[in-house]
Amino acid sequence: MQFTDLKAQYTALKPQIDAGIQAVLDHGQYIMGPEVKALETRLAARTGVKHCVTVASGTEALLIALMALGIKAGDEVITSPFTFAATGEVIALLGARPVFVDIEPDTCNLDATLIEAAITPRTRAIMPVSLYGQVADMDAINTVAARHGLPVIEDAAQSYGATYQGKASGGLSTIGCTSFFPSKPLGCYGDGGALFTDDDALAQAAREIRVHGQSARYTHTRIGVGGRMDTLQCAVVLAKLERFDWELARRREIGARYHRLLAPLTALPNERGLGLITVRPDRDSVWGQYTVFVPQRDKVQAALQAAGVPTAVHYPKPLHHQAAYAEFCCPDCCPNSIAAAARVMSLPMSADLSEEDQDAVVAALAAALDALARDGAAPAAP
Ligand SMILES: *Cc1c(COP(=O)(O)O)cnc(C)c1O
Repeated sequence: MQFTDLKAQYTALKPQIDAGIQAVLDHGQYIMGPEVKALETRLAARTGVKHCVTVASGTEALLIALMALGIKAGDEVITSPFTFAATGEVIALLGARPVFVDIEPDTCNLDATLIEAAITPRTRAIMPVSLYGQVADMDAINTVAARHGLPVIEDAAQSYGATYQGKASGGLSTIGCTSFFPSKPLGCYGDGGALFTDDDALAQAAREIRVHGQSARYTHTRIGVGGRMDTLQCAVVLAKLERFDWELARRREIGARYHRLLAPLTALPNERGLGLITVRPDRDSVWGQYTVFVPQRDKVQAALQAAGVPTAVHYPKPLHHQAAYAEFCCPDCCPNSIAAAARVMSLPMSADLSEEDQDAVVAALAAALDALARDGAAPAAP
């Protein structure tokens, strides 16, 4: 069993993907070829925004978003510590300070009610993460941001395709950023990413920044980066769009089925009990990761591995417990993030996960939790 089954996806889409790649080889415009614009047009329409700018990766999208907003040394950007390092990294790279605000314990997304207390005269942006494929509480976040005149950047690397009050993730704030890393809900065959905005000036800035700040050839109007997405990778994403709506529907079904099958295990006594991610009623999740909370994670992971079920941990430490980010926060801050990092475990998830494999995952997890009790490592059920 694969953690993310990219092979089955390629098999299903082989004619489209091969033809898309061959077309690029035939025309030879490897940089900024016609597939780049074609993809941007398709994705802007899907996301319900005016502009899509493809870039070299999700990380680059976040970096370019901050640069387009003029974030600089000494500025503060509010974000979650319970995320992939890229979110905090791009803030620190610009000499700005990531200000970590804790998460909601049941969704693992930024707790919007804690943001206002973290705003200072140096705050320049709020960067929520739509973790595991579910959008953060964007209405509440946008409201706080508007009250303080701050832009909001959604890190939608794991949530592209998800909806919030019927609107698309990526199109819910000043700028939305996503990633086409192969294992993300919409992946390419290497690195790629995109940013989304309705703001003409920010879109223009992002387009210039991704090509070394050029407003015209060899006219460098601003400091930029080498941040374009390859034409070949755009061709791969275009081909994958052919089945993306089906994949999203499958991901939602598989997520709902996991929730249904695992629900009985949440009724076990605390020490053995499983926890599930809550999906709020006004949104859905595309399950960029299908993540659960488990006790004694090392033991459970080892048992699943022995049963042939691959798992992963997203993420074993909150950013403020990583050496590189320790200076930005006190060790005891963000207790919900610390608690989540100790318990989260992600299960196999992809649109091509079969019911048989999913049943095997659930059975292995039930057996592993059962074994914890028999071990005497945790009190037995009453
Ligand atoms: C994957 C990911 C990124 C970075 O995307 P890359 O394309 O790998 O650079 C950023 N933030 C989150 C939450 C991610 O999951």
